[in-house]
Amino acid sequence: MGMEPEFSSEALGALIEQADGSGVEICGLLLGRAGRIETMVATRNVAADPARHFEIDPAALFAALRAGRRGGPEILGHYHSHPSGSADPSPTDAAQAAADGRLWLIVGGRAARLWRAVAEGERHGRFDAVRFAVTTGGHVEKNCEAVHMDGAGRTMTFAKAQGSPH
Ligand SMILES: [Zn+2]
Repeated sequence: MGMEPEFSSEALGALIEQADGSGVEICGLLLGRAGRIETMVATRNVAADPARHFEIDPAALFAALRAGRRGGPEILGHYHSHPSGSADPSPTDAAQAAADGRLWLIVGGRAARLWRAVAEGERHGRFDAVRFAVTTGGHVEKNCEAVHMDGAGRTMTFAKAQGSPH
């Protein structure tokens, strides 16, 4: 699959804190180029029951699509949180997801994991886990399958995937 998608530890940490303090699912867009996440843009969650579901504000989605067509960063995927505490996709997520290869960053339980929506995924038949890289200071943590932030919001730990990436 080439280069691992890359996030900054500051951006992931901020997202974990925001998700942990929210009783509803937070959501937003992952924008970038050539698989590299440049920005995460928070959007409104317009779902009827935002404590249990998310729906990206369509106005924000169309604005990002338009900006991408004019040479701005592309939409590589989106993120949302699970107030229930899991960073794994739910069956509802699988039912909602098109097998379009987009990235799904899921935040829950002070952790974040990355998934890709595919036709025959390992999880609920729709998602494959995606290994990612996290830049922290001048250093890059590669081959991450999850990041966790401690309760004080000071220390991020990196769960590394076993075996060689494919
Ligand atoms: Zn979900």
